[in-house]
Amino acid sequence: HFLPLTLFLSFLLVGSVQAQQKPIEQRVEDLLKQMTLEEKVGQLNQYSGKAVTGPVSEVKTNLINDIKSGWVGSMLNVKGVKDTREIQSVALQSRLKIPLLFSLDVIHGYKTVFPIPLAEAASWDLEAIRLSSHIAAKEAAAAGIHWTFAPMVDISRDPRWGRVMEGAGEDTYLGSLIGAARVKGFQGEKLGATDAVMACAKHFAAYGAAQGGRDYNTVDMSLQTLHETFLPPFKAAVDAGVATFMNSFNTLNGIPATGNSYLQRDILKGKWDYKGFVVSDWGSIGEMIAHGFAKDNAEAALKAITAGSDMDMESRAYKQALVKLVKEGKVKEELVDDAVRRILYKKFEMGLFDDPYRFSDLKREQKVLNDPQHRLIARDVAQKSIVLLKNENNVLPLNKKAKTISVIGPLAKAKRDLDGSWTVAPDTTLTVSLFEGIRQKVDKKTNVLYAKGCDVQGNSLTGFEEAVRTAQQADVVVLAVGETWDLSGEAKSRTNIDLPGVQQELFTALKATGKPIVVVMMAGRPLVFDQIADNAPAILYAWWLGSEAGNAIANVLFGDYNPSGKLPMTFPRNVGQIPLSYNYYNTGRPVLNENNIIYRSAYIDAPNTPKYAFGYGLSYTTFGYSDLNISKPQMSANEKLEVSFTLTNTGKVAGEEVVQLYLHDKVASLARPLKELKDFRKVMLKPGEKKTITFTIDKEKLSFFNNELQWVAEPGEFKVMLGTASNDIKLEGNFTLL
Ligand code: BGC
Repeated sequence: HFLPLTLFLSFLLVGSVQAQQKPIEQRVEDLLKQMTLEEKVGQLNQYSGKAVTGPVSEVKTNLINDIKSGWVGSMLNVKGVKDTREIQSVALQSRLKIPLLFSLDVIHGYKTVFPIPLAEAASWDLEAIRLSSHIAAKEAAAAGIHWTFAPMVDISRDPRWGRVMEGAGEDTYLGSLIGAARVKGFQGEKLGATDAVMACAKHFAAYGAAQGGRDYNTVDMSLQTLHETFLPPFKAAVDAGVATFMNSFNTLNGIPATGNSYLQRDILKGKWDYKGFVVSDWGSIGEMIAHGFAKDNAEAALKAITAGSDMDMESRAYKQALVKLVKEGKVKEELVDDAVRRILYKKFEMGLFDDPYRFSDLKREQKVLNDPQHRLIARDVAQKSIVLLKNENNVLPLNKKAKTISVIGPLAKAKRDLDGSWTVAPDTTLTVSLFEGIRQKVDKKTNVLYAKGCDVQGNSLTGFEEAVRTAQQADVVVLAVGETWDLSGEAKSRTNIDLPGVQQELFTALKATGKPIVVVMMAGRPLVFDQIADNAPAILYAWWLGSEAGNAIANVLFGDYNPSGKLPMTFPRNVGQIPLSYNYYNTGRPVLNENNIIYRSAYIDAPNTPKYAFGYGLSYTTFGYSDLNISKPQMSANEKLEVSFTLTNTGKVAGEEVVQLYLHDKVASLARPLKELKDFRKVMLKPGEKKTITFTIDKEKLSFFNNELQWVAEPGEFKVMLGTASNDIKLEGNFTLL
C-alpha cells in the first residue's frame, strides 16, 4: 500500500507547485484585475531614492508614504542589501504588496570598476565584454539591484559629446555586436537567476547625434540614416532579449523621443514586436514642456503614454495627471493596462513575487563584492582595451630591470580618475594607480621616481622644475596625462578636446631633457594631442580603465601583455573636422592627391584624414596578409560567398591581430560609403605561425537601407577589403551580386 500513497502525495505536491507556477501572463492578468486605476498608474512611476535612505526629512516621509500607498513601481539610486531590503519592506505594506524594482546606472562595474565602455569596445573582444558586464551584474544583483540602465548603444561620431565614453564608438556593426554582448552579460542565463539583472538599451533614439556634440541637443536626420546607422544596435539588443528600453532627451526631427510614437509604437513595439517596457529618461516626460511640445505636465503625460513611454522616471507627470486623464476619457485605460502589464511581467520574470528580496543578504553581498576573481577579470579586459598608437624604434616594451624609471604627470598617481565617470559603489582606494602598477611590476632594485608636474586642469607651471629634474635621473620617462574623471560623461561636452591645462607644455619641457618618453594617455574620449603624437616616441591610449588600470597598463608597458586594442572611434586632427568617421562617402570632387586639392572637397588648412583612424592599433609584433581568395566571382542573393586569406605573425613575439573586413557597394540606387565594416576576427598567433581566416558574405552583409525604407541588397559589383585598420587595407578584391 506504500506505493500508491507516495504517488498520491507526489500528485498533491506537483499540483500545488503547478498552482504556484501558472504562466506569467496569467499571473499578470490575475493581479491586474485586482488593481485600482491609481494602483495601475502607481506601477508606472519611478522615483529616485537618494533621500529615502538618508536621515528623516519631509521628502523622505513623503516618499515612504507614496511607496506605502502603492504610488511607486520602481526606485532608482537605492542600492545595497540593507537599503533595498528596508525600502522593499515598505512596498510590501502596500495593499497589493507589489514589490519594487530597484534600478541603478551600473555602466562599467558595481564595486569592481571595469574599463569605461568605449575602452572595452577597443578590445573588439565580445566575450571579454560579455564577461565584464556579467561580473558587474553579479555584484549589483548581490547588492539588491534588479535592473541596470545599460548598455548605452548610441552610435556617435562626435568626440565633443561627453557620453561617447559610455558607448561602443562610431560604428553600427561593431556597436550592434557589443550591445548584444552586454545585454547577454547583464541578463545572464535568465532574468530570475541570482547573477542577472535586467538590461536597458538606451537612449532610444539617435541621442548620440546631438548637434554640435552638445549634450541633450536637437537631432535632425534623414529616416534613412536613422534606420541604417542609429537603430540597428537597438534592434540587436531586442534580438538579444533586452528586458527594457530607455528613451532619450533629444528631439528627433522635431519630436521629442519621449513623445515619439514613430519610434516607440511603430518601430519598437510594432515592427520589432518588442514585449519589454520603456522607461523615460530622467524627467524627460516633463521636459517636453521646455521643448515646446506640451503645455503642461498633463499634456506631457498624455503625449508620453500615447507614444508608448511606459514608465515615468522622476518627472511625476504620470502621477499627477494620468488618473485624471483616464477619468476624463483622454487616455484609454487600455493604454495604461498595457504599460502596467509590461512592467508586472518583468517583475514576475525577475522572481520578485516569489521572493521580493531576491536572495539578498548581507553576508552574500560582502562575499560577492570582494571576490578576488573579479579583479582578475577586470585586469584582463583592461589590458585588452589599451591601444598602442605609436612605438618608434621599439621603445616599448620597457625593461623591468631598468635602473631608474620616472613616472611623471598629473595622472601618474591618480586613482579616482582612472575609475572614470558613472561609478556607483567603487572603493577608490583599491584602484591601482599607474605608479603602483609599475612599482609592483619592475625589479626590486629599479628606482621608480615620481613627480606630478602639473594638474590636469589649471595653468600652474610650478611643478615643472621638479618634473624635469626627475626626468633627468631616469633611463626612461612614463608620462601620464589626459582627462580627470569629470571631463567626459553626461553633460560633459567640450568644444575643445585637446589636453586640458598645461599638460602639453609639461610634455615639451620633459622632451627637452632628451630622455625617451612613453606617453600614457587616459581619457573618456578621443583627444586631440598633435604635438605629443608627433614628438613622443611611444604612446599608449589607456582611456579610463578602472580598478585594475595600473596593473593592466604595466603589463603592456613591460611586455607581459602584447597590446591588441584597435580604436572604435576616429581620432580627428582637430575639432574642426568633426564629425569625422571612417565610413564617409565620396563627393563628386574627391581628393585624389593631397598636393592638389584646389576645387576638391577638402579643407585648405588641414588634411581630410584623421590623426588615427577607426580600427587602428599597433602590436609588439607584425602581421602579414597574403593569398586572398574569393570563393567565386559572382553570387546570387540566396547564395553565400567565402573570402579567405592567410594571416602570418611576421614578428618575434606572440600577439593578437584584429582582422577587419570592409565592403564597398560600388554603384547603387543611393550613394554608398567607401568602406563599411562587415566582419572582423581577433586572432592569436605565435611568432612565425600562419592561419587561414575565412569570412562568409551573405545578402545581409550586402544590404543597405534605401529611400523606400527597406533593407535591400542591390545587384552589382562589390569591393571587399581586408585590413589591419580602416585606413590600412592589406588585401582587396571584387565580386558581383547577381
Ligand atoms: C541619463 C540616463 C541615466 C539616468 C538615470 C539620465 O540623466 O541620461 O542615461 O540612466 O539619468 O541616472
